[in-house]
Formats: sequence, C-alpha cells, structure tokens
Amino acid sequence: MKYTFLPSQFPLSQSSPFPAFSYVLSAQLALFFRLQHLLEGRSLLAVEIGMHGDTLAWAVSQGWLREIPGIRLENGVAHCQRCGESSPKRLVPYSCVRCMKKCTYCRTCLQMGRVAVCTSLYEWTGPPSRWKDSSALHWGGELSPAQRRASDRVIEAVSNDQSLLVWAVCGSGKTEVLFRGIERALQQGKRVCIAAPRTDVILELAPRLQEVFPYIPVATLYGGAPNRFATSSLTLCTTHQLLRFSHAFDVIVVDEVDAFPYSVDATLQFAVRKALKTNTSPIVYLTATPPRYFQKACRQGVQPYVRIPARYHRNPLPEPTFVRCFSWRKAVEKGRLPTKALQWMNARLEQGRRVLLFFPNIHLMQKVEKGLLKHLPEATSVHAEDPARKEKVQALRVGDRRVLLTTTILERGVTIPFVDVAVIGGEHRQFTEAALVQIAGRAGRKKDDTMGQVCFFHNGVSLSMLRARHHIRSMNREALANGDLDFRGGPRP
Ligand SMILES: [Zn+2]
Ligand SMILES: [Zn+2]
Repeated sequence: MKYTFLPSQFPLSQSSPFPAFSYVLSAQLALFFRLQHLLEGRSLLAVEIGMHGDTLAWAVSQGWLREIPGIRLENGVAHCQRCGESSPKRLVPYSCVRCMKKCTYCRTCLQMGRVAVCTSLYEWTGPPSRWKDSSALHWGGELSPAQRRASDRVIEAVSNDQSLLVWAVCGSGKTEVLFRGIERALQQGKRVCIAAPRTDVILELAPRLQEVFPYIPVATLYGGAPNRFATSSLTLCTTHQLLRFSHAFDVIVVDEVDAFPYSVDATLQFAVRKALKTNTSPIVYLTATPPRYFQKACRQGVQPYVRIPARYHRNPLPEPTFVRCFSWRKAVEKGRLPTKALQWMNARLEQGRRVLLFFPNIHLMQKVEKGLLKHLPEATSVHAEDPARKEKVQALRVGDRRVLLTTTILERGVTIPFVDVAVIGGEHRQFTEAALVQIAGRAGRKKDDTMGQVCFFHNGVSLSMLRARHHIRSMNREALANGDLDFRGGPRP
C-alpha cells in the first residue's frame, strides 16, 4: 500500500558491475525497490537482509543505504547500536573469526542475531516512499462519554505531536479509544505503530485492527511471525521487534507500558525511542496501572494524561474485600485452601459462579491443586510454562470448568464471564499494587455480569493492598463525579 518515486536528482549509477545498460537499469531499479522495501525505517544486519556484502557496499556508495558499526566504541566504552546496551557485563570481548581480532559482541540482543564491532547495521537513506491514504475507519461502535474524552485527547496528541498517557481502568475498552487517533494520523500520511510487550496481545489485537482498517494490510510482527519484512503504514508489533527499527514511525502507541518485560527492560524503552522518526514524535502510552514514577509525573504536570475511570458498561469497578487469614501459608503447605477461602469459594460455586484463585507462586499453587482435586475434580491450574494454558482458560470462559488456580500470569489480558476472584496470600511481595489492581480488574467485565466479587485473603495488610484498594476506589469516585456511572452506591441492583 505504498508507492515510490525516483526523483530526477537521484540518478542511477552507470558505473555498476552490470554489462548491458538497459539490463543495468532494470536490475538496479529492482535492487532499489527491494532495499527500500526491506530497509526503510529499519536497522538490519547483512544476514537479516540476505544480500551479499558487495551489493550492500554498492548500495551504500549510491547513497541508498547507511552502514553503521553494530557496536560503537567511544573512549574505550562499547555501546550497542541496536539495543542501546552499554554495560561492560553485557558487551563481551571474544576472539572473532570474522575480523580475526579481539572483538566485542552484545549479549543483550543476541537472540536477534549477533551484533559485534565488526558487523554492520544497514539503514535506508534513499528517498522515502509515500503511503497511500487508505485510512478509512470501518467501525460502527459507539464510545462512552469517558472514552470519547480520551479519544479526543488521542487525536489531539497525534495531531500536535504530544506524548500522552491514557490511564484507563481494566475493562474500559481502551483499544477503541485509539481508532480515531490512528485514522487521523494515517490521513496525515503518518506511519503508526502499536507496540505491546506480549505476543498474546498482538495476536488478539491483529484481527480486530484489520477489521476496522480494512484497506490497510496491518503489518503484524512478533518472534516467529510468518512475514518478518511486512511493511505498512500501520504496524502492530511486540516491543522486542522495535529493536529492528530506526527512525520509522511518526506515532508509537505503547500498550501495557507497565507490563513485563517492557517495564523492567531499559533496552525495550530504548527501542521505542529509536523507532520514532524524530525526538519530538509522539508516544501514546496505554495502561490501567501506570508505574509510580509515571503517576508522579502526571500529578506534577510533567506527563500529559487522560483518565478513563469507568468501564464501558457504566458500572463501578468491584472493590476488593480484605479477609484476614492468619494461617493461610500453613494450610497451603498442607495442600488445602485456608478455611475462610474454602468457604468463600464453595459459597460462590453454589451461586453458580466461576472462581479464579491467584497464588504467589507455582509451588504453593500446585500443592493446593493436588489437595483440591480430591474433592473438586473440575479444578485445574495454569502457570507461565503450561502448554495447555489457552485451553484451560477457554474451558473456564465457556463454563466447562469452574475453578482455575493461577499465578500472576493471568493477572491481565483475560476476560471471563461470571467470575469471582480471590488472592491467596495478598500480602506476598509478588502482589504489587499494579498486580492487585489488574487481578481485581478480572471481575465484572461483562455487560451481563458487572458485579464480580474480589477477595484478598491475607495475613496482615500490605501497603500494596492498601494502594490497590485506594486506586480502585479513587477511580470509582472520579467516575461517579464525572457522571460516567449509572449505579450510584448502596446495595447493587
Ligand atoms: Zn545489543
Ligand atoms: Zn569481529
């Protein structure tokens, strides 16, 4: 969906190694288009491009490409040009068979192919392609007033090149809030990227985005994606894949900015900045639980933000109940749920509800699962490495199973109807404020089930638990004050 032009001030060389002039022209043109397609906005190794070094060197001599050393040495300190790594522990000296010298390679981004002092990264410097305006948005949905406020701010941010944080509660419908902003950017001939830390999110988002922008082939990139060189004015990729881009996008939307690994990996944050076309190109951050430094920047007025405090179904977020359970760990170690948690679960099951139980780690979870299975055969568990994770979640979703034990792996990204949520050992350090807010956000997401219960079983209330409850309550208060809720306190209908 792009077309390219060759400006007259950009003559093709006639001193190429090809023998016949007409053949030279067509071969050079083919090479030109191929390189432009592969490299525009990208920063790739020769092995990734799959072309001979001489061809690339010739393209560099024509001014089509720029060749930069994979690792830059500055006053004896090495810096990886792909991932921004500069820690001596991650930039490892080795005897290189390529340059036959003592060389240095980057361990941090090794999984994407080795970058060393003697390997080059290639970037496109020829004329840019122009993107056809295929921006028409096909979406018949309606935004809630809270969503509309946020959507207007996204359009404003995209148009005026301003960074923005969309702080939207779990289940508020934050993806829809982006549609108009993306459309505006595309209409202005801009190139847009939506990046998220996890492949799951990308795979879920790709068909939705393609449906609402039917005239643009959405380039979907993740580890193991079928087309690694898909190019489009609308790109959807994992934050990892952004390492392969450079000065590419006029707008980047970073979804789940607080999620692992983006939140803890400086490399990925570097990748986002590198992939932006200029220093002033806008980033739109999207999250339900901004990290504390982000929240502080918002309060101080440094980071522009907009909040969506209410869910699209206009009911408040379920607030967590704290239940003291002195000996939860003792019970769990013995392979059973603490009595209060067991009573709570049985009561919920009797009501015909489904139950999601969060544990601090796999070890404790599996102990309880073993014990629980003796009298509740429909219980099952999931963790990060579980190959049947998707099927098990699906079984809970459709009601084939009614009890699912999990680690924090399911804290975000899942919507299950008629579910009540409990945390066993809520004070455990694994349960941060963000994790608890996300966990609580699993309940009451559906229009026909807005009142899920959230229970934190604990042995002493932690600061994170208090912060999580405060976070949820303040969102509900704000939503009520804004008129975003139909329900106005008191016992729920
Ligand atoms: Zn690196
Ligand atoms: Zn070398």
